[in-house]
Amino acid sequence: MQIQRILVPTDFSPFSDLALQVAASLQAKFQSQVTVLHVLTPLEAEALTSQPGNPWENVVLKIQNDMLREIEDNAPSLPQNMIRYEVIVGEPAEEIVRFAEENKMDLIIMGTHGRTGLASILLGSVTIGVIKKTCIPVMVVKCPERLKE
Ligand code: ATP
Ligand code: MN
Repeated sequence: MQIQRILVPTDFSPFSDLALQVAASLQAKFQSQVTVLHVLTPLEAEALTSQPGNPWENVVLKIQNDMLREIEDNAPSLPQNMIRYEVIVGEPAEEIVRFAEENKMDLIIMGTHGRTGLASILLGSVTIGVIKKTCIPVMVVKCPERLKE
């Protein structure tokens, strides 16, 4: 299996932090390109851009900055020139799959859970949606250190 392109969908939860850690170690082995993607729902996008003085470009810049910080904190060994930052609007699972297929991703790395993080549920709805809708391999990571304490 070639792992040239890795997609890490992030919701900035400890689970996506862990997905980035795993992506960094695979990147080092395969020299892959890593794309970090955040999907805003139309409602979230509308709420953010309707704040005064917060045009869409600012919203994107702020989220890209959050991604940069998430990488600095969790995957500082990732070479900057191998990382892409993407922000799109839509239904998260659908957009993750559309993006992954259009951009020929070899592997998607994401958390079992995300910001809701209900341990009683096997998998969060975004991860279930992605696994259902695509044939691209999905690596699902669980048990971030930060939640074990
Ligand atoms: P739910 O959202 O169903 O209440 P949850 O928040 O615990 O449950 P998910 O949202 O499915 O679980 O999150 C699982 C993984 O999906 C996250 O670790 C992250 O990798 C990815 N993810 C979730 N939401 C987004 C999003 N808006 N954009 C990009 N990736 C996301
Ligand atoms: Mn969620």
